[in-house]
Formats: sequence, C-alpha cells, structure tokens
Amino acid sequence: MSFDSLGLHPLLLEALNNAGYDTPTEIQSAAIPHILKGQDVMAGAQTGTGKTAAFALPILHKLIKLQENNASQAQVDKRVKALILTPTRELAQQVHKSFNTYSQNTNIKSALVYGGVSIKNQVDELKQGVDIVIATPGRLLDHLYNENISLDNIEYVVFDEADRMLDMGFKDEISRIMKKLPSPRQTLLFSATFDESIFTLSKRLLNDAILIEA
Ligand code: AMP
Repeated sequence: MSFDSLGLHPLLLEALNNAGYDTPTEIQSAAIPHILKGQDVMAGAQTGTGKTAAFALPILHKLIKLQENNASQAQVDKRVKALILTPTRELAQQVHKSFNTYSQNTNIKSALVYGGVSIKNQVDELKQGVDIVIATPGRLLDHLYNENISLDNIEYVVFDEADRMLDMGFKDEISRIMKKLPSPRQTLLFSATFDESIFTLSKRLLNDAILIEA
C-alpha cells in the first residue's frame, strides 16, 4: 500500500514526500479509504500510530478538491468547514502542526483555539477566515457564545482522543457543541480505549459508522 494508491491529492503526496513518509501506517491504510468515501468512522488508535494523518489527510484532500471546484467559479470560501476537537492544548498544538505540514503546498488555513491564553488573537485569526479549526471544548464554547465562530458550514468533525475527553469531564461541553453542529456532516471519532461511555457517545455522534481497530 502506498499513499498514492489511497488516491490522495498530488499536493498532499508532495508534502508527505517532503516529510519523509513512504508508507501509510495500519490505521491510515484502514481509515483513509472510508473517510474519502464520506463514511463516519470510529477508530481505535493509540498515540504514535499515525492517527493524526489518518484523519487530517482525507479531510485536506476533500478541502483541496472543494477549493479547486470553487476556484473555477471564482468564489472564495472562508467559512469553517472542518472542526477537530481535542482534550488538551498540547494535543491541539500537535494536530495543528500536522495539518500545517500536510497542507504546506496549499492555501488551506487552520486556526488553533484553546484556553489559558488571550482570546483576542484567536478572534483576529478567526475573523480572517479559516477552513479548519482545531479546538479544545471549553474555549470553543466561549467563541461560540461570543459569536466569534459559526459551525453552520461544518462538513467534517473529528473527536480526537475521545476517551480522554470523557475522562477529563468534557461530556457536557461535547453535548453543547453537538447541538451547534449541522447535519448532514461526516463525523470521525478516535479513541485509544473503548468502553460503554465511548459507545454511548458514538451512538449520539455518528451515523452508520465503520468501526476500525488498528
Ligand atoms: P500520531 O500517532 O498521529 O501522533 O503520529 C505519530 C508520529 O508518526 C508523528 O510524528 C507523525 O509525523 C509520524 N507519522 C505518521 N504517519 C507516518 C507515516 N506514514 N510514515 C512516517 N511517519 C509517520
């Protein structure tokens, strides 16, 4: 299996080549084709398995295609189309770094939104228009209530390390964010562990999901 045979956009293949990735990891080979097809996915994956690229690459692929289609109609779409939720600021930063690495040859923009720092810079960045928001739940809700961000045009949502999100007590925040998410949308849930609470959450979030354990 190669990244090329997964059908990813040439701009992404070039970035992967620059980053020194030759072969997709197990979770990437298993998840990417389903995500490209538009299916909801629930994936069991530990940190270090390459799970970030497993969701970032197909989402970027779809956003690049969308930009290419819009370019022919001379439209500039600056609405937030993908939301990645993470339990911690550190994970949000890592995910943001990965998105920037993979999107280096494109003009797809991602913004980071987390608590513990001034809200103003985040508001300024959001105002300029971004395609992807990578956020921790509490600060995302602050931005939603202050109407700094709209989730009305979200097409892709990722819950990264969903088990940690629940362990950290973000259940209510997740419910409040869920109410603001439009349907239809594609939802991906990544978790290192699966217990009853994750299955309960996945039933509320996902639609006809494919279960992948790599
Ligand atoms: P993650 O599990 O997403 O935190 O990724 C763990 C590390 O593996 C990160 O440093 C990635 O840059 C790297 N990585 C992910 N996928 C690949 C791949 N297919 N080939 C080489 N390195 C990779």
